[in-house]
Amino acid sequence: MSGVQAACRPACMTPASGAGRLLARVGQRWASSATPVAALRGVTRGSAAASARQGAPRQGLPGYSGLRPSGARPLLHPSLGFAAACQLSGNAGPQRRLSGAAGAARAVVAAPERPSLRKASSEAVQKYGFTEVEGEYIAEYNAHAVLYQHNKTGAELMSVASDDENKVFGIVLRTPPQNSTGIPHILEHSVLCGSRKYPLKEPFVELMKGSLNTFLNAFTYPDRTCYPVASTNLQDFYNLVDVYLDAVLFPNCVRDEQTFQQEGWHYELDKPDDDITFKGVVFNEMKGVYSQPDSMLARYTQQNLFPDNTYGVDSGGDPSVIPDLTFAEFQDFHRKFYHPSNARIWFYGDDPLDKRLEILDKYLSEFERNEAVHESEVAIQPLFSEPKKAVHKYAAGGDASQAKNMVAVNWLLAEDVLDVETELALGFLDHLMLGTPAAPLRKALMESGLGEAIIGGGIDDDLRQPAFSIGLKGVAAENAGAVEGLVLSTLESLAESGFSAEAVEASINTIEFSLRENNTGSFPRGLALMLRSVGKWLYDRSPFEPLRFAAPLEHFKARLQQQGSKALFGPLIRRYLLDNPHRVTLELQPDPALGEATEAAERERLAAAKAALREDDVTALIEATQALRERQETPDLPAALATIPALDLADIPRTAATIPSAVEARGGATVLRHELFTNEVLYAEAVLDLRRVPAGLLPLVPLFSQALLEGGTADMDFVQLNQLIGRKTGGISAYPFTSSRRGSGEPVSAFVVKGKGMAGQAGDLLGLMRTLLHDVVFDDRARFKQFVSQAKARMEARVVGGGHSLAATRIDAKDSAAGWVAEVMGGASYLRFLRDLEARVDSEWDAVRGQLEDIRRSLLSQEGAILNLTADDKTLHAADGPVADFLAALPQQGGPRHEWTERLSAGNEALVVPTQVNYVGKGANLYAAGYQLSGSAYVISKHIGNTWLWDRVRVSGGAYGGFCDFDSHSGMFTYLSYRDPNLVKTLDTYDGTPAFLRSLRLEGDALSKAIIGTIGDIDAYQLPDAKGYTALMRHLLRVSDEERQQRREEVLATSEKDFANFADVLEAVRGEGAHIVTVASAADVEAAAKARPELQLAVDQLL
Ligand SMILES: [Zn+2]
Repeated sequence: MSGVQAACRPACMTPASGAGRLLARVGQRWASSATPVAALRGVTRGSAAASARQGAPRQGLPGYSGLRPSGARPLLHPSLGFAAACQLSGNAGPQRRLSGAAGAARAVVAAPERPSLRKASSEAVQKYGFTEVEGEYIAEYNAHAVLYQHNKTGAELMSVASDDENKVFGIVLRTPPQNSTGIPHILEHSVLCGSRKYPLKEPFVELMKGSLNTFLNAFTYPDRTCYPVASTNLQDFYNLVDVYLDAVLFPNCVRDEQTFQQEGWHYELDKPDDDITFKGVVFNEMKGVYSQPDSMLARYTQQNLFPDNTYGVDSGGDPSVIPDLTFAEFQDFHRKFYHPSNARIWFYGDDPLDKRLEILDKYLSEFERNEAVHESEVAIQPLFSEPKKAVHKYAAGGDASQAKNMVAVNWLLAEDVLDVETELALGFLDHLMLGTPAAPLRKALMESGLGEAIIGGGIDDDLRQPAFSIGLKGVAAENAGAVEGLVLSTLESLAESGFSAEAVEASINTIEFSLRENNTGSFPRGLALMLRSVGKWLYDRSPFEPLRFAAPLEHFKARLQQQGSKALFGPLIRRYLLDNPHRVTLELQPDPALGEATEAAERERLAAAKAALREDDVTALIEATQALRERQETPDLPAALATIPALDLADIPRTAATIPSAVEARGGATVLRHELFTNEVLYAEAVLDLRRVPAGLLPLVPLFSQALLEGGTADMDFVQLNQLIGRKTGGISAYPFTSSRRGSGEPVSAFVVKGKGMAGQAGDLLGLMRTLLHDVVFDDRARFKQFVSQAKARMEARVVGGGHSLAATRIDAKDSAAGWVAEVMGGASYLRFLRDLEARVDSEWDAVRGQLEDIRRSLLSQEGAILNLTADDKTLHAADGPVADFLAALPQQGGPRHEWTERLSAGNEALVVPTQVNYVGKGANLYAAGYQLSGSAYVISKHIGNTWLWDRVRVSGGAYGGFCDFDSHSGMFTYLSYRDPNLVKTLDTYDGTPAFLRSLRLEGDALSKAIIGTIGDIDAYQLPDAKGYTALMRHLLRVSDEERQQRREEVLATSEKDFANFADVLEAVRGEGAHIVTVASAADVEAAAKARPELQLAVDQLL
């Protein structure tokens, strides 16, 4: 369950896995984590985990992820382990996406001896009908990789042996679409809805409920579909692999039109006089995507760069085209492309190698070789001879003054896949030009005042031909023409003068650090590797090539040393950008009438469809609607459910795992040390008590964080300071953290400065963290104003793309002070604050600046400060001196601690935004209603999400996601929906939850599956830095190991009776104390107010 980066990203400039991209993006993560509210929800409860991953690359957001949206799982895992992270951080709108920084580059530092190749036995290779094509020890990852071909079918297998217990399997098919009906995407959803061996409605959901997986999802790219799973438990891993192989090769959906209708599209009609509506999970998912201006820009960019090949259409599906798709075309697509001859298969980890061949042969040998698969080859887009311009529109909200243009300059870089060395060089160039706030192209765009925030991700090498995009959003119409000129003139001057030695050194250190650290966050390392390898393999290049970077990197550095940056990068800038005629300058203009026009076109189409129906057709449609709904709402038979293999509860460890923690009091401060193997990296968090900041200043804290990270000191301007951080550390970020603490009405709130560096850099790292806190000056009004505009642009994107988190934050803010704090630093109130602040920065800068100084003065205090350190013993010792110096620099006593008692006023709310789909939230505090926490609550709330809400809100309701979240710290239980065509109906589903629980019968092994799945969340796989951070959170929230053990025992002892008892508890969310907040379209809000006047929805036009 963890690590699902399922954000449905636009299918074009998004996937993050190529080797060049790997190098291109690594520094970026720290730059963007300067945005402390990256995870809206994360500011409070989710943040324990979300922040833990702020430093992690936002991996693999490739295309559409099918099976679950980023929000379709609990925002905060019901774990005292803070195990899995809040997804929302990965979905943070317009920031540049970070990429699969997955390189473990031990070899960059010192290549170990080349051991003999570990591979399957020759007996097994022969017995199971494979041929070994090529094999190689990959020192960079201490991995043994062998490429095999299956003799009968031609299927290819990369079998990678490593010591990593987080085992990964994936099957990848080349699936280029010819139109925008979304066939690959709908198929990706549908194949996991029952198969030959697992004939139940949704085997995928059963795996979500009851397995220990560390990754489970699927992705649709513009030209491929990937089905990856991961687990650290061998038996669990085999179960996952078998379900996925059976699903991909023998799915029931190709014979079952109802699945196609449910996941794709269908007409719905309940009564003869009603209007017909469209329903379908992908249909509504894509309406959500098409409601986001940022994703429309990415879509138009891809389509304009690739007008002549498969990338010119939308593999995800255009909602206005999806209803053209027929079941016959859908079946045909599967027949053609879901075939072993068109498959690339990946195994990675410490599982037995012969067994991999055995597992595969059993499935593959049922097929004959299919020569038609060459049809899946991706044709080349010929390069233009002249640059082009394109103008498109996006649906803007009612407030026209807020709506501005987006302008992006885009290039297609080459006629085919690049070689590794060129890719590496372009990756460095990308980082130098755009990777940090100090990078010159990024800086020039931001300082130009032409727009509010950067768009375009720089280099994208995930498709067959690489591309480069850069531009601005929030551009006034009269400035739109100037953006292209600024980009070109900046490139010209960079080609002319090169980059400073400091900038080059900073980029090299940042990239090498990232490679060595190989920190893929909660994303399995083996999966990051797979996505990179497939990025070449898919185009019939070597799958090994993207895995070997040590030698090209050394070679590149040597050339850089010899020739200097100007001689090396100047020609690259000219050849691939300035002199490259395949350039498209794209302008996206706001159109307040477009939303209504789109809806009107859909209504018209539906009316025409109805008008064409004869009376008996109408009856048939009503019957079909009912039949589908009935099927969706009928549980699977126990016999079908029993086909899904499950682990035995007896195999689950009874004892909660602990993280080593040594606590040392240092005056009023505390030093926490976690001794873990980190490959000589030191991870450090300095935690200051945010409760010293007066409540009125809290909305400024996120910008205060950014000002610290992106400011200069009296001696250094911000470029110099930023480069120093790049040269001397692995990166530094800063952000606020707030949570409720169970049993206390008092919020826990901290300001966190987080950094990492190699053991030898401990002094530099802590010294620079100290410099940021004490010495950065707030004297640059123009730059601060940019921060405000950026933050505003980011919030506006989030309102449309992640309305569920906005709703949840607001519901919390009505209940607790911690919720209120999160809301003013990352919710709708924050957006309003930013709009005012933009003007105030001009009219009363001295006052704003004084408030920033007040925040700093309040925070700096030894009393209550915590330093949290994670590393091996030797590295921890190396940090002793710098730790003492860091603490000694803090004043003994800071300002007074404040009572924060604010709340948002109670009452139901509707926030109106321009969107084709809604987000519906409802929550209440269970502790306030008298509930005493038991571990069973985690099992039950997970089960509600995976059954009742999944079936009603998503499957029959047609929303992309429906889920619930129980925050065991505050006691809040919240229902949320994501990209939801309904509003009132979803609220009714929420209110039906207690009745569902009362009538629930947990047959067969359903209860043990629910328990095992919950344990899987609690025990989620973590890299060492995440473990150290988890331990810090437990310290702050006072969650003891004893308490965690008690909760674990309660989880394991959960009974059917607990489910029925919890129904009474959940009555609170139907009662007087519950709050509703929805983020929705004006039309749907109006209809809801009419249908349910008793809700007394306070309507508020937010965008
Ligand atoms: Zn999807």
